Amino acid sequence: MQRLKEGSPGAATALSPREHAAASRANVERLFAEENPVALFLDIDGTLLDVALTPSTVHVPSVLPSILDALAARLSGALAIITGRQLEEADRLLQPSKFVGAGVHGAQMRLSAHGRIEHLTPSFDASLIADIHDIVDALPGVVFEDKGSGIALHYRLAPELEQPLHLMLEDLVAKHRNEFMICGGRKVVEILPVGFSKGRALRKLASLPQFANRTPVMVGDDVSDVDAFRAAENLSGFGLKVAGENFSPEESSFQGPAEVLDWLQSLSSPRSR
Ligand SMILES: [Mg+2]
Repeated sequence: MQRLKEGSPGAATALSPREHAAASRANVERLFAEENPVALFLDIDGTLLDVALTPSTVHVPSVLPSILDALAARLSGALAIITGRQLEEADRLLQPSKFVGAGVHGAQMRLSAHGRIEHLTPSFDASLIADIHDIVDALPGVVFEDKGSGIALHYRLAPELEQPLHLMLEDLVAKHRNEFMICGGRKVVEILPVGFSKGRALRKLASLPQFANRTPVMVGDDVSDVDAFRAAENLSGFGLKVAGENFSPEESSFQGPAEVLDWLQSLSSPRSR
């Protein structure tokens, strides 16, 4: 079988976005088919689950935890969740399964599936939280979520507030330039400690013994996942985009979470491909 794309990111530059998306997915499928070692890194919202009006109202397909368990077993534990959610939330959604993972864009880490969740940053100080609450109070419809290591402001219920929300947060964060940064996402703005990203989280997880010496594959749907795609590609791996509010169907390897789920299910059984 002819290789569609070699592992180096440079080889992809001649491909159109559509060709790149198809080739990346085909290469990952080939790695599985040939029993080559792969490490999977999965975003949750918009990747494994359809996006809901608010984060708490997502629907979790009943088969999802067992598919991920089977895949993790096939990969000898080299399956991790990399999400903007808190890992406690990820556990609740994926119960009874638990996985290695990074939460709040890497500000939380769990280095073994049943290990302790480490919070890598101090909590926000009270005055900054009060200032953020003032912004939320001024913009009815914006939903405040305290993630411990970060704060998310969701505006899916009031999309017209995107611009004023961004402007007010930029003013606020400018006063804390060396401590906090703004991270945009789908209908959400997050205030995070500087220095954390899904890319950094992927690099850290990829260095763990059960992930090392495997081809890293990141699957995600949001702008915050781009950094993790790049991290995977820099480790001679692949970033697979899921179409949705951020990535077009043409540039994506999957058209939505249902297709990702089918794909993961097919990969979870060694002889299915
Ligand atoms: Mg997502």
